[in-house]
Amino acid sequence: MGEAAYVYEQEACNLIGRCPHEMTICSQSRPPLIEVEKGHFVACFYINKNEGSNV
Ligand code: SF4
Repeated sequence: MGEAAYVYEQEACNLIGRCPHEMTICSQSRPPLIEVEKGHFVACFYINKNEGSNV
């Protein structure tokens, strides 16, 4: 099984280890995809925590 398949199957954010805003929850579950503005989707616990910010 290739590396891409492994990343897809993990129960965590794909940016673990590379994100400056990483929190404990980021390695425990995959962040949900949310629409932050029309047609702009983000999957990130940090933006949920700071709803309304421009992160
Ligand atoms: S969920 Fe957001 S804050 Fe957490 S590691 Fe991923 S990109 Fe960073």
